[in-house]
Amino acid sequence: MTFPVLVDYALRVLVVLVFGIVSLRKKLVDLTGFMAGLVVGLSVIFLGGWNWFIVLLLFHLVAGVATKWKYEYKRRLGVAEEKGGARGWRNVLANGLLASITVSLEKIFGGQVWAYAYLASVSTAMGDTLATELGLLSPSKPRLITRPWIRVEPGTSGGVSLLGYLATILAGLIVGFSGYLLGVVPYENNQDVLTTVFIVTTSTLVGVTVDSILGATIQAQYRCTVCGKLTEKPIHCGRRAILVRGFKVIDNHVVNIIGIGSGVLSALILSLIA
Ligand SMILES: [Zn+2]
Repeated sequence: MTFPVLVDYALRVLVVLVFGIVSLRKKLVDLTGFMAGLVVGLSVIFLGGWNWFIVLLLFHLVAGVATKWKYEYKRRLGVAEEKGGARGWRNVLANGLLASITVSLEKIFGGQVWAYAYLASVSTAMGDTLATELGLLSPSKPRLITRPWIRVEPGTSGGVSLLGYLATILAGLIVGFSGYLLGVVPYENNQDVLTTVFIVTTSTLVGVTVDSILGATIQAQYRCTVCGKLTEKPIHCGRRAILVRGFKVIDNHVVNIIGIGSGVLSALILSLIA
């Protein structure tokens, strides 16, 4: 290993550590989320490289800003992320595990299909987070995706809003364009920018929609015995809430990772036929 390579490797570790520590201090993650974030960040920066890492960083920053955006207002509504929005390891892995897996598969097999899959995993995670966090601020009540004539409270799993879907498309555009410009999808394959943006944005819509459908059907939903609110949390107002729909094992994180998996699958299919 030559000296410049060593310096480059040290820099990669340093950059991941610095962003991790800043995220910890800014309370974007808790200590377990920080550890999980190191695993995801290091795998992407070493197996994919700097440019792949920048795409991941975009997700992290957009998700962080969206979660903190009007946090007080969301907290008063009772729909904010807990612990000031600091994400734990389950949340980080639900959002980042498929990024780590797809970057590994692209490293092993090459081509470009896994590069598309990687972009779709990041954009679906971004789309879901943006749609959730911005959807909470929607002026009109969200509609249940499986029964659109029913309006639900903001924050109800399975609820969708126009604002949420615009946020989903925005995430697809951000990740699609940046992935193309940063060369995550190799230029030599003569892919034009529109193909990349189309595949990523469509897959993001697929992933977020699957997420919402599962959120409306099999995701565990509870009713609080104290305040009477519907919630996705098993504990509410300090008491154990009653399961009213779905399965206990299928919580928000499980639904999240299946949604992102659907976005990845969509990107794989679209990139093979594009
Ligand atoms: Zn309650």
